[in-house]
This record gives sequence, structure tokens and C-alpha cells, in this order.
Amino acid sequence: MADTPLMPIAGHSDPVTTARDITPRADGRVDLIGLPPADIRTILEEAGLDAKQAKLRSKQIYHWLYHRGVTSFAEMTDIAKTMRPWLEERFILGRPNVVEAQVSSDGTRKWLLQTDDGHDFEMVFIPDETRGTLCVSSQVGCTLNCTFCHTGTMRLVRNLTPGEIVGQVMLARDALGEWPKGKMDFAETYANADDGEESETEYRADGRLLTNIVMMGMGEPLYNFDNVRDALSLVMDGEGLALSKRRITLSTSGVVPMMERCGEEIGVNLAVSLHAVTKDIRDEIVPINRKYGLEELLQACADYPGASNARRITFEYVMLKDKNDSDAHAHELVRLLKEYKLPAKVNLIPFNPWPGSVYECSTPERIKAFSDIIFEGGISAPVRTPRGRDIDAACGQLKTAAQKKSRAERDREAAEASS
Ligand code: SAH
Ligand code: SF4
Repeated sequence: MADTPLMPIAGHSDPVTTARDITPRADGRVDLIGLPPADIRTILEEAGLDAKQAKLRSKQIYHWLYHRGVTSFAEMTDIAKTMRPWLEERFILGRPNVVEAQVSSDGTRKWLLQTDDGHDFEMVFIPDETRGTLCVSSQVGCTLNCTFCHTGTMRLVRNLTPGEIVGQVMLARDALGEWPKGKMDFAETYANADDGEESETEYRADGRLLTNIVMMGMGEPLYNFDNVRDALSLVMDGEGLALSKRRITLSTSGVVPMMERCGEEIGVNLAVSLHAVTKDIRDEIVPINRKYGLEELLQACADYPGASNARRITFEYVMLKDKNDSDAHAHELVRLLKEYKLPAKVNLIPFNPWPGSVYECSTPERIKAFSDIIFEGGISAPVRTPRGRDIDAACGQLKTAAQKKSRAERDREAAEASS
């Protein structure tokens, strides 16, 4: 890891929300990825364009960035050729750096990524028959210390910026070949377009389109609220990456005071890492419970803006042997979800062990019995199939594996991955 100063950590179960400005770049250029359209316009004006030019160019640039996924100004064919070097000198169109990219035998892809100031974080893509889900990180490390989670053993290094968050989705589109090709309708509306390409508009993908996003990578998204909100607004913007809010799920360990704002200002589906139904056990395995207890959490879920039977809240429950997996726990889970009248589905997650973890995964028979009780209570409780096990595609694990490798090994692998 590079030697960026670490952020102060405010506490174990009650950290402050610490936003950070855009990562400064050594070459003085500004990364446009992650900026809302109005900010691109302002920044162009500040760089010297007149108001009319700034308005036009910012619209064109925004479209090229998020609709076409171009990574250089040279590709922006409706912007005057003479202007492209001027833009290139002042701005960049960044992506997170790829340290390592792996594909599992089951099609799961995992990336170890790096910020410009040298901090590693992860992203995973999980293709299914009907959809492809990208698991996106919100922080490098985490301030919380859930005892079964490997990210919880890492310190919070810093929040990811909006550009680093939306950049993950853009990088996945790059890797999957999912940017539309061909002429843009948009370009035709500008008389001063000096170039154009004449191929059909098409989407190309290697059989698995990126259809869904889950904020379930490293970090607690509601402790990086502003940056996550700003990044997801670019993802959801019809002029941006144009992914419906119904296809995006944000997972929280239970940052109760931010949940209502999440529903109101972001409006995505909510997943809650419940993992236990008694105070004692949840205090132990999800320590934020000592601050915001079960009743408060479930009430915040009941009040979550936009939740309904058509848009249920997902309750994640990691199956830990002899810890939280008894029949009594399953019955209590059903009782609680009914008491709070929650439009709920339960996602049972087999525990994925990591070196040094103190838990074991519940047996398949136990998981089945637990799931059956919840189903009998009228609540859907599928068991999440472990994916990408051969590439350590579990929270926090690739990063550790990579840290053991030498720099040269990583460089070689990154070069192979990109070729
Ligand atoms: N911080 C947020 C989102 C990231 S964690 C949260 O806690 O909800 C995403 C999900 O992975 C959470 O439900 C988390 O509990 C689960 N998880 C973490 N480590 C795991 C492990 N070793 N095995 C199975 N699930 C794990
Ligand atoms: Fe942080 Fe979520 Fe891991 Fe808990 S489960 S330590 S909140 S990333």
C-alpha cells in the first residue's frame, strides 16, 4: 500500500461519516469521472471556455463518458479536433487501476483494483442465467468490525470517491465489452460536429450483460453516504449509465440514522445484514448493534421509503455453525419480520471462511432446516450459492492474497490480464 496518510478512525462501532475530496493527481489534471454534468460545465468554464461552449462541450463529454465509455478525448468525434488536445492537457477520464483480474471456472470475475494514491480494493462480477450482478466497493477497508467478515479486520483507509465508485461500473462495462458501438443520435443534433462514425448502434457483451449492481463489496456504504449517492445518481441517470434503481441494491450493516435518507435520496433497494436475532449474538457478530439495536433497525426497515411487497427488503443472514443457526433462531427471525410487518425476503449466506476466522459454516442440513422454517413462515429464504470459490471471490479475500505476492508478480499478472 502507498503511504497516503490514514484517515482518523473515530471508533469501532460508531464512526463518523468522513467524506474526502477528490484524490489529488500528481500531474495536476482533473479526473472528470464522477462529476455531475453541472460540475463538468463549471470546470470547463473555469478552464477558459465561454459559457456557450462550456454548455455544449460538457453535454457532449458527459454523453461520451457514460453512454459510450470512451477513455480518451481523441475518441470524441463530435468535438473539434483542435479542441481535443486542449482537453487532454487539462483533464483525464480515469478508471480504477487494475492490479489483478481473475475469472473463475463458474464465470465469476474478480478484480483487485487500486486508487491513484495506491490503495487496493475489490470488485466482483457474478453472472447468472438471467442476470449479471456487479458487487461494488464503497470504502477501502471498513470502520466496523463484524467478526465473520474479513474486511472487518482491516482499518478504514479512506472512503472511495464518486469517481472511484462509478469507475468500477465503467471498468466492468469495459471488460464485458458492453458499451454501445456506432453513431450516437446525440451527435447529429450538433451542427459543428466535424467527424462521425457510421456503424450500427449495437451492444456487444460476452454473453453476460451487467444487469444489476449490489453495494456489497468492501466497506459500509452508509458511512460514505454522499459519495455513494453521487456515484449512484450517475449510474441511474438516463443520460448516464442508465441502470434502473430497481436493479441496484445497497447493503448496510444497520446504520439506522442514514437509512431514511438512503431511501429518499438514493431510492435503491435495501439489503440489511441482519445475521442474528438476539441482542447478545448480534452485539457480538455485528458490533454496530451495540449502537443501533435490533428494534431500532427493524423499525427503520419498516419505515424505509419505497419498500413494498413489490420491492421487498432483503435480510442477509450468514450461516455460522452453532452461533446463529438453530431452529429457535429461525422461528424468532420469522416472528420479528412479522411483528414489524416487513415486506421481506431472507438471503441465507453460507459463511465463507478466511485464514484466521473463528467460525465455521453451518452444515448443509442445518442451512436447509433453517431455510425450511422461514419458508413455512411464508417468507422466501433462498440459500446463496457460493460463487467463485476457486478465485477467493469472498469479501476481503483477494486483497489479502494479493498482498502476499511480490510487486513484480502482480505487475506481470496485471499485464497478462489486460492483454
Ligand atoms: N458493509 C455492508 C456491505 C458490505 S458486506 C454490510 O455489511 O452489509 C456484504 C455482505 O457480505 C454482508 O451481508 C456481509 O455480512 C457479508 N459477508 C462478509 N463476510 C462474509 C463471509 N466471510 N462469509 C459470508 N458472508 C460475508
Ligand atoms: Fe464492514 Fe460490512 Fe464487513 Fe461489517 S460486514 S465489517 S459492515 S464490510
